[in-house]
Amino acid sequence: MTTSHLMNNYAPLPVSFSKGEGIWLEDNKGERYLDALSGIAVCGLGHAHPKVAAAISHQASRLIHTSNVYQIELQEQLAEQLCELSSMDKVFFGNSGAEANEAAIKLARLHARRKGIETPTIVVMEGSFHGRTMATLSATGNDKVKVGFEPLVQAFVQIPFNDIDALKAVAAQNSNIVAVMCEPVQGEGGVNIPSAGFLTAIRRVCDQHNWLMMLDEIQTGMGRTGEWFACQHENVLPDVMTLAKALGNGVPIGACLARGQAACLFTPGSHGSTFGGNPLACSVGLAVIKTLQANNLIDQAKMQGKYLLQAFQKSLEGVSGVVEIRGKGMMLGIELDKPCAELVQLALDQKLLINVTVMNTIRLLPPLITSQEECDQIVGILTPIIRSFLQK
Ligand SMILES: *Cc1c(COP(=O)(O)O)cnc(C)c1O
Repeated sequence: MTTSHLMNNYAPLPVSFSKGEGIWLEDNKGERYLDALSGIAVCGLGHAHPKVAAAISHQASRLIHTSNVYQIELQEQLAEQLCELSSMDKVFFGNSGAEANEAAIKLARLHARRKGIETPTIVVMEGSFHGRTMATLSATGNDKVKVGFEPLVQAFVQIPFNDIDALKAVAAQNSNIVAVMCEPVQGEGGVNIPSAGFLTAIRRVCDQHNWLMMLDEIQTGMGRTGEWFACQHENVLPDVMTLAKALGNGVPIGACLARGQAACLFTPGSHGSTFGGNPLACSVGLAVIKTLQANNLIDQAKMQGKYLLQAFQKSLEGVSGVVEIRGKGMMLGIELDKPCAELVQLALDQKLLINVTVMNTIRLLPPLITSQEECDQIVGILTPIIRSFLQK
């Protein structure tokens, strides 16, 4: 590895996978692993899904790319379906989560111009993650992603997550606010689930002040939490919603959805992307939606997620050092009372893929196709690892 020609921005675990099937991965030595991370909430349909593979190969043999200089029918179709599922009006396609959020931030800037605000500010949350471009890292509520990259984009004011009084307070102080940007459940921040009513309360404040409510559903969207989009648990409609991760099941695609006035802010030339919304990515997006629907996988995620959560609550009941086990659909966090990054390697040794994002919290994001038996296997492997780690 010391002779690698890759830049040093990742610290990969010492394993490399050569193929996969469903929730299983196989490394280059032929060892099998249970994947409870799904490439960080990307492969909701699991690995090598036949419908995804078929969509890729079919479209690749017909047409991959033409550019947005021309109309793209598959892009129109995917936009229509996403709008139908989300009750949003219009879509801009990029290639990643960060790009989807960049588009959202640019919409907020255009919204500001309409309101006559020259130095617009967006309210963001502590513990949030919105991406690694200059604007999205500036929006992110984690200093680690910002260090060394100053000066930041000066457009954000940060408040504590799940604190509606803080939002009201900042509204009273700052007349330059034009939008609120927020994850419905914080992913990288440690699977932080706000109290019921938090999103509804944000909606109300945004309506009072004519701010855009912008939900980053890049990790929570496409069924992950047991609804198509996490805001649907509360029946809240944002003005802007961003998607990426699971939308292409691994084929890069990002989307910025908008509704009402916010959907009409871009005009020809005001934003764009060379690859964004190309026929290949869009045909895969359509196949993903069709497969989620045909197999009732959103309901399965809700059901299996509940099962997994209860199974862990039971298997770890009374274990001292377990602070909280929380989850929404197939998005689970197990918070311990001490830093637990080393659990990732210990689980890997037992052929289970998990993740620790913030110091004390294990994050599980199994594919939505995970069966009850596979849930039991995840619990069966991880429980003793956590127990013995906490006894040390
Ligand atoms: C992953 C993620 C992003 C960034 O997506 P990229 O595709 O890595 O740019 C943004 N927001 C949230 C909530 C995410 O989970």
